[in-house]
Amino acid sequence: MKRWFLCAAISVCLICVGCSTAKRDIITQTSTIDALLAGVYDGDISCRQLLKYGNFGIGTFDRLEGEMLILNATVYQVKADGKVYTPDTDIKTPFACVCQFKADKSLFLEKEMNYKEFEELINKTVPNNNIFCAIKIVGKFEKMETRSVPAQSKPYPPLEEVTKNQPKFYMENVSGTIVGFRSPPFVKGIGVPGYHLHFITNDHKQGGHVLSFELAKGKCDIDFCNQFFLILPKNVEAFKNVDLSKDRGEELEKVEK
Ligand SMILES: [Zn+2]
Repeated sequence: MKRWFLCAAISVCLICVGCSTAKRDIITQTSTIDALLAGVYDGDISCRQLLKYGNFGIGTFDRLEGEMLILNATVYQVKADGKVYTPDTDIKTPFACVCQFKADKSLFLEKEMNYKEFEELINKTVPNNNIFCAIKIVGKFEKMETRSVPAQSKPYPPLEEVTKNQPKFYMENVSGTIVGFRSPPFVKGIGVPGYHLHFITNDHKQGGHVLSFELAKGKCDIDFCNQFFLILPKNVEAFKNVDLSKDRGEELEKVEK
């Protein structure tokens, strides 16, 4: 009887462990990039909920309070002061993209390269541009230029207005990790087509949304993701009323670069 109980208990535990691990090769995104561009900055789902869909990702926080980076299931917040915080996971997000990271391919980057050269290398290495790639680079960077954004108050200005005065951060000879995604062109309007990368230093003191870099050397892990799961805000009033019919491609270009 005791042994039977023990077996049952172990089985239940194993099932629970299975449940808590997010499925592989699925990109899960909350809200749409065009809603964010239009100023829908109120968070809907919490980071705790977000972590159920993956241990790796990027995004922003309620009221646009800084850049989000998720690495090994820890949520980091790079605020407009350039410092890195680990917020309570109750904090909500208006836009984020996560996956359960496991590398399908690894590249050793032995020679120096900038952002554009890195993009070209990945495009050559992973020529299928119609699936998602989660990208992790652990490396030494001669230069790293990032930005963050300050928390906004209502009525929220569009993202293009906010980023006109974005604080930028310049780092030299730093070791750290880039976390991000390459998304297919057809996600336009929903996500960010092409590369969208965030950075954190090894000492967890600096980071942000990557604008440019010069990599000295590093290792790039790529996870091919062929499934996409979109969670739209249910409780955000502004999302119900925002006009998402117009083309915001140009705005996105200005905001990302
Ligand atoms: Zn970003």
